[in-house]
Amino acid sequence: MLCALMTETIPPHGGDLVDLVLTGAEAEALSGEAAQHPKVALGSREAADLEMLATGALSPLTGFMVEKDYRQVLEEMRLASGLAWSIPITLSVDDQGLKRLGRSDAVTLTIDDRAVAIVQPEQVYRRDREAEAEAVFLTTDRAHPGVAALERGGDWLIGGRVQVLALPEHDTFEEHRRTPKQTRAAFAERGWRRVVGFQTRNPVHRAHEYIQKCALEIADGLLLHPLVGETKEDDVPADVRMRCYQILLEGYYPLDRVLLSVFPAAMRYAGPKEAIFHALVRKNYGCTHFIVGRDHAGVGDFYGSFDAQRIFERFEPDDLGITPLFFDHAFWCHRCEGMATAKICPHGDEDRLILSGTKVREMLRNGERPPPEFSRPEVADVLIKAMAEPGA
Ligand SMILES: [Zn+2]
Repeated sequence: MLCALMTETIPPHGGDLVDLVLTGAEAEALSGEAAQHPKVALGSREAADLEMLATGALSPLTGFMVEKDYRQVLEEMRLASGLAWSIPITLSVDDQGLKRLGRSDAVTLTIDDRAVAIVQPEQVYRRDREAEAEAVFLTTDRAHPGVAALERGGDWLIGGRVQVLALPEHDTFEEHRRTPKQTRAAFAERGWRRVVGFQTRNPVHRAHEYIQKCALEIADGLLLHPLVGETKEDDVPADVRMRCYQILLEGYYPLDRVLLSVFPAAMRYAGPKEAIFHALVRKNYGCTHFIVGRDHAGVGDFYGSFDAQRIFERFEPDDLGITPLFFDHAFWCHRCEGMATAKICPHGDEDRLILSGTKVREMLRNGERPPPEFSRPEVADVLIKAMAEPGA
């Protein structure tokens, strides 16, 4: 125990790392019973939440939220226990699903017809869509992908503790799938005490590389933690992004100071609220610091550029535990002759290499590499090749 304490980077949120995966005789007994309970088939978003609940990524949560947690998270960004939490973790069913469940005291959750978990429903309550959309996404506009996903979900929420029979199966990125327990063990093995987490759902260009390396200057290690759950259709697919990360790391990063591992979550596009969520979850993975860039987890122009940074002011540092590192947008400056941000470069836009996302996509689609000061050529080549593939 002493050894574990000495190597721990930071305690999980709430103090203990949750593990809901049953093993041995208990798992066998419950697997047998699972066939008899009414079933709820999980979509990819809820399956991702289940995986994170199971492995403790959502510690201290031990199941889907009951109404008092749900309400308090929406209204105060806190669980009923008072602990900081910004995004509801819920299991929804529609009217028909609710009828099928009846008064059963256990429900089996399935993925592709495979029983993966059992929920003991503590409470079934009506989802407050409008309050949820306003609180989480700060809008009820259905053009927002998070609001649209919320609209597609059922009207009823089942709250209760979860017992996990089997983790969702994946046939991608297997060597990069690590649970919080495994990332924590990897940090301990490398002797890292200060670990900075970087969330991404985009290819890494020079701007992101610069920010990560700035953070790495004051940390022992970097957890490059790309989200590989469901994203919106026009985001770059996870397998293409993974190729970009690998080629970038091999060419330009000190490999003994970086851990590339995938984050199974679905993207919510909740901007500020998701920035808090992303930080708390990375704390569970063992990160002591977390990078929050401009418009973190944003979409379109639903959030201001720095809203996802300002929201951290609403918490005392101890509420979150993990330390946020705030960064402005980075660029190459011809006069500085290096990467910079407005915080350190006194020059004007005319001296800076600034390309819009639209412009970069257009160049890549035309088979043209953006300037090397914007994208590493190896990364550009991966993206050019992916865009040339049918269907891209
Ligand atoms: Zn400059």
